[in-house]
Amino acid sequence: MKCPFCGEADSKVIDSRPTEDGEKIRRRRECLACKKRFTTYEVVETVPLMVVKKDRSREAFDRQKLLGGMLRACEKRPVSYKMLENAVDNIEQKLLSSYDREIPTAYIGELAMTELKKIDEVAYVRFASVYRQFSDLNTFMDELKEMLDNRSKNSEK
Ligand SMILES: [Zn+2]
Repeated sequence: MKCPFCGEADSKVIDSRPTEDGEKIRRRRECLACKKRFTTYEVVETVPLMVVKKDRSREAFDRQKLLGGMLRACEKRPVSYKMLENAVDNIEQKLLSSYDREIPTAYIGELAMTELKKIDEVAYVRFASVYRQFSDLNTFMDELKEMLDNRSKNSEK
């Protein structure tokens, strides 16, 4: 926020509070150069997250769609809706905290798989197989094998 009096770019915030409608933030600032005070109204960032698909087309990130995909993977598995909602929350939080507003579907898929892996292995494998559409069968089989190996190791204990 440039100072309206001298054009200095740096100012410090003295006071900060939401406007009555809650849609903006009113900030009282003091210019670091001329020490004059001014008020800014800042709009809370609502730039939508865009998902970049394989064919380079873009669409707005759809939380419901992601949740739906994960729900399908968990069909008949002992996974509650709440658990999946939490997982989607985690994913959304990660996406929002990244600087990039354009996110490749591959990245979202990876995040979803990481979350599912923590919740239910079968659901994870289902999701991974659908998600990767067997285009990367070798990786998929490697992961499956690794998972089964770990499981037999665990049961030996
Ligand atoms: Zn100034």
